[in-house]
Amino acid sequence: MSGSAITPWVVGNWKMNPMQADAKALLQDFKKLLQNNEIKEQDCYLGIAPTMLALGSVQSELASSVRPVYPVAQDVSRIAGTGAYTGEVSAELLKDQQIDFVLIGHSERREFFAETASILNEKVKNALNAGLTIIYCVGESLEQRENGQAEQVVLQQICDIATVVQAEQWKNIVVAYEPIWAIGTGKTASPEDAQAMHAKIRAGLTQITPLGASMAILYGGSVKPENAVELAACPDINGALVGGASLNAESFYKIAQAFANTK
Ligand code: PEP
Repeated sequence: MSGSAITPWVVGNWKMNPMQADAKALLQDFKKLLQNNEIKEQDCYLGIAPTMLALGSVQSELASSVRPVYPVAQDVSRIAGTGAYTGEVSAELLKDQQIDFVLIGHSERREFFAETASILNEKVKNALNAGLTIIYCVGESLEQRENGQAEQVVLQQICDIATVVQAEQWKNIVVAYEPIWAIGTGKTASPEDAQAMHAKIRAGLTQITPLGASMAILYGGSVKPENAVELAACPDINGALVGGASLNAESFYKIAQAFANTK
């Protein structure tokens, strides 16, 4: 046991999955596993990020869980408040529906939806000002890693948001380091490489904010039950953002167990 003072987070990112009936069965299976009472609330925070369409029904389903499992939005508009913005969901609308968490900056949003640093800054600013906690994703491509630019790219992504985050708002930020080459590919960063980057992220954060030492830094990229224990043992890996493996109740549960056991 590492005995880290930082409570780990394990968050499932369902992406554009699954169909309604499968989502219901998945949540019911997961809630049943939680009844074993092996993952205590104080040992691991849990979250699930379904599609925007399913957010309300997942929230209702999770309300009857034996322990909190927070519904998390996968995205938020860069526009604040309400208004004539077809297709958008603002931070205020999420908050109004008692959604307190949102992913921002996932590499799929950066890559496929052209979300630049300035767009992400607007999202970060609006989400924090509305009182949401954000899971801010950072990570380098394979090419950037091979060119020796991984650290610079990741630290720049952290510095980007520093211009819009007010001093006391850092407590509402969780960072997720997700090397792009490890997302959905089955390739995981080795625990040593992941820990090395997490330590650099923590050093970068502590230069920006005194809260950096206590911020949770999650790892994401093909996390599965087979590698979760080793990753969880790394001192600066304070949880996981889980894509594919979160679509299986037992796998997601085992990953959560691995992180809860570090407390
Ligand atoms: C993700 O989408 O955040 C992710 C880490 O996906 P996977 O676990 O499938 O690599």
